[in-house]
Amino acid sequence: RNEKAQSERLTREKIQSRVYEAYAIAKNIYERNQASESKAKIQQMILDALRPIRFENGTGYYFITGLDGVEVLFADRPQMEGMNLLDMQDTHGQYVIKDMIEIAKAPGEGFTEYYWTKPASAGNDFKKISFVKRFEPFNWFIGTGLYVQDVESQVNTKLLSAISRIRFGKDGYFFVNRFNGDTLVTNGRVFSGEKKLWEIFTDNPEKIKTIFGKEYQAALTPGGDFIYYSWIKLNSSDEESPKTSFVYGIPEFQWLVGAGVYLDDEETHITLMQLELTDRIKSKLHEFIGIIIGIIGLFYLFFNFLSRRLQKDIDFFISFFNRAARSDEEINRENIKFIELDQMAEYANEMLAERRQTEEEREKLRMQLNQARKMESVGRLAGGVAHDFNNMLGVITGYTELAMDSAAPESPIGHALKQILSAARRSADITRQLLAFARKQTIAPKVLDLNETVEGMLKMIRRLIGENIDLAWSPGANLWLVRMDPSQIDQMLANLCVNARDAIADVGRVTIETDTATFDKAYCADHAGSVPGEYVLLAVSDDGSGMTPETLENLFEPFFTTKEVGKGTGLGLATVYGIVKQNNGFINVYSEPEKGTIFKIYLPRHDSEAAQIRKNAPAAPDATGSETILLVEDEPAILGMATMMLEKLGYTVLGASTTGEAIRLFRGHGGEIHLLMTDVIMPEMNGRDLANKLLPLHPGLKRLFMSGYTADVIAHHGVLDQGVHFIQKPFSRQDLAKKVREVLDET
Ligand code: ADP
Ligand code: MG
Repeated sequence: RNEKAQSERLTREKIQSRVYEAYAIAKNIYERNQASESKAKIQQMILDALRPIRFENGTGYYFITGLDGVEVLFADRPQMEGMNLLDMQDTHGQYVIKDMIEIAKAPGEGFTEYYWTKPASAGNDFKKISFVKRFEPFNWFIGTGLYVQDVESQVNTKLLSAISRIRFGKDGYFFVNRFNGDTLVTNGRVFSGEKKLWEIFTDNPEKIKTIFGKEYQAALTPGGDFIYYSWIKLNSSDEESPKTSFVYGIPEFQWLVGAGVYLDDEETHITLMQLELTDRIKSKLHEFIGIIIGIIGLFYLFFNFLSRRLQKDIDFFISFFNRAARSDEEINRENIKFIELDQMAEYANEMLAERRQTEEEREKLRMQLNQARKMESVGRLAGGVAHDFNNMLGVITGYTELAMDSAAPESPIGHALKQILSAARRSADITRQLLAFARKQTIAPKVLDLNETVEGMLKMIRRLIGENIDLAWSPGANLWLVRMDPSQIDQMLANLCVNARDAIADVGRVTIETDTATFDKAYCADHAGSVPGEYVLLAVSDDGSGMTPETLENLFEPFFTTKEVGKGTGLGLATVYGIVKQNNGFINVYSEPEKGTIFKIYLPRHDSEAAQIRKNAPAAPDATGSETILLVEDEPAILGMATMMLEKLGYTVLGASTTGEAIRLFRGHGGEIHLLMTDVIMPEMNGRDLANKLLPLHPGLKRLFMSGYTADVIAHHGVLDQGVHFIQKPFSRQDLAKKVREVLDET
């Protein structure tokens, strides 16, 4: 396009300069001859000078016309000279001469286009472009022109030959055809444009037509297009190679221009591959972007889904925890989709299970504690009653004994007194059991070997259980010592064996075992009531009826019995329990209905290795005396009984039922008072305070305290100093005689 525009400009410059030349010639002739020659002569000289001039292959010539429209010079067709062509129109109806005159008049020169005759060509339809310039001396205008077709074909020829020479790559060249198939450039050569492509390559015209059809289609595509086909190469005209070309249409020239590469050319191959690759990359990129968008969409949906799921699970959890705070309902793990949350749920359920376990265990402990409290309060109650009751029994037995002294045993009174005494003793037995349960039994602990103690009792036990029941005795080897009152072991064994006998319907076996046992902290944590340490085990088992859980729950309670009225008192196991507790031991029971029962009693090991087992001294006759004793006791019955006992033993007794009276008697008494024997617990003042009041009046006054409570209890309440003399109520005359002598004889 650039070349074409350029050449038209050059053409216009060319004809303009031709006209300037002619003008210069004419002007020169005129000026040289103006003075000497006539006007007509000068005009003739100008016409002669310009008429023969031809250019552009003879198609270029000069013409001169008068401003009146009369032809002066028409070099190509002189016959037209002298004619007025003012009204002449060209084939397109244009007044050619009139237009030129207009230009010549003003501005004096210029270009004009029209259709005209052509030298050596028939017809008058040749588009022409002319330049005219006014020649003032003769009112002429001089002009010349060129035919557009000529100019274009010249430009085209130049262009096509330039295009035909362009090469690129190994076999690259341009080709140009007209839209109608006329061949202008192909295979590196310029053609006249008179033959169609298929008239040049005549081997297979149909194939060539098909190829041209593709070129034409590509040329019609805005921006051009690629075509694929086979074509001969530049250098080997007999062999075709696959080729791809780009074809571009130029409608204003009716041209299609193309350039191509052969596909078997390596570079081409690479280029094409690159093109293809670029294409593929582009399409892949589109695909990829599509996929990414798709994936993002999916992810969005997935995460949305996931988060809703998660929210659901979390809500589920929250509601579970809300409920779990109040109830034991476990979380339903089937509804949970996330492994991690499921794990959490498992832990939560374990936690709940643990909580339940703890609550159970707590429940058990609470029951045990309740049981212990119940036993404690029942014990206190029983102890309280038994204590007073015991005092009364002491009075009854005491007086009965005194009365029996002065009544013949064979007399009716003597006989009655004996009955009273035995009933009082039986009552004292029951009371003693209650006191044992309440741990208020008067005891005389001794260090002893349980094996020896049990062996000493076997005879009695065999009598108790009868002939139909076997008694098995299995003493533990190297048994440790215990320190306790042997009579309490009697009590426990008798009660346990009687129960075992009662549990065995017909024939069976009772087994007594001893052993050593050591409990650590871990064991004791699991066994309520036990304390870590070393123990001696005393076990009594039977293969009898066993117990129901309800019985097991209550069996240590006083007065709990499953036996018929008159057969059981319900005090047996209560006694055992109290004794065990009093000796800082503990008791376990295992029982299964129809299988049997075993009671295991653990008694603390006595830690003094050197402790001696003292044999009971043989009973000595009542020790008597003649000293004066101040006896203080707020219970009048006991005061009276004790006074009688002491007087019988030879002592002088000053009896007082209050501390005030005791102090008065002490002060008022003329002679010496050798011993103060006083109750410990009294309404106004306790025995110790009384003693402390009297001591200044008589330093060295001997003192003996008495109480219904054990020395331990009294000492525990801080009422008695360590090492002072003490006697437990109720006491027999023998006990009293011995104790009083012991205190008086002490130096
Ligand atoms: P009692 O023997 O007067 O009934 P206990 O305190 O000795 O009172 O016993 C309480 C209850 O414990 C008994 O009534 C009985 O039901 C049960 N019991 C005690 N020992 C055994 C045993 N060895 N076998 C089965 N039951 C027993
Ligand atoms: Mg019993």
